[in-house]
Amino acid sequence: MGSRWVAKMGYNQRRCLGCVGSRSREPSGTSKALTHCHSGPARLAEPTVGTNDLASLTIENYVKAIYQTCVRQANEPAATGQLASALRVSPGSVTSMLKTLGESGLAEYTPYEGVRLTRSGNKLALRVLRRHRLIELFLAQTLDLSWDEVHEEAENMEHAVSDRLIDRIDEFLGKPATDPHGDPIPRADGTIEAMPSLSLADASVGNPFELVRVLDQAPEFLRYLSETGLSLGAQGAVAANRTEAGIVTVNVAGEETTLSREVAEKLLVTQTAEL
Ligand SMILES: [Zn+2]
Repeated sequence: MGSRWVAKMGYNQRRCLGCVGSRSREPSGTSKALTHCHSGPARLAEPTVGTNDLASLTIENYVKAIYQTCVRQANEPAATGQLASALRVSPGSVTSMLKTLGESGLAEYTPYEGVRLTRSGNKLALRVLRRHRLIELFLAQTLDLSWDEVHEEAENMEHAVSDRLIDRIDEFLGKPATDPHGDPIPRADGTIEAMPSLSLADASVGNPFELVRVLDQAPEFLRYLSETGLSLGAQGAVAANRTEAGIVTVNVAGEETTLSREVAEKLLVTQTAEL
């Protein structure tokens, strides 16, 4: 992908839904998919239809991954290796994509330090996260999809819906603050609410807690949590926190469950007054 070309792309322009719909229903290369909203001789001359969409999809995934990595480490720059594993691509692909992002003004890469988003990169990342999280909640609330099913669906849909539709979904859902995993939903104005960040691993023993956010959204992990009663909003208490053994034992609805510290760190809770 040519970086010069990417730099020319308009990030404020979302593809329209009709076009996305027609593209998914029809084989690539049909003139209908092209003329609907990507008209112009330059596009028609391109050998592969959908290059534009693929490029913007990749860019959106990169800025999202950079954003999430930086947030997780108190806004320290993201390392190439971290992005490679988050996006499941080779470090070489990350390096060349970072150049592209740099040239398009979305991210800044400093050798031996890492990458950070620029103001416009940050804005784009929050827009993608807003789409992702609202789609997740919409699927959970209207189609009854479970919290372990919505992430994968939203991963695909987040690149396809218009911001106008997302704003309608937002209104329909009553401008919700969080998604089915407790992640905060960025507002339409590009701001995002700071969330409590007390992990279950650091929660005080004996005090009641409420599970408010789950950081690992792998379907099998979420299903495990559901099975052990640790769904979002679950209330319980830490029965024991054995740092020397790396385990945290919790009591939820009369059931004791022992979690590794690593798992407990992925569960964010709020704690109320002592029992
Ligand atoms: Zn989510």
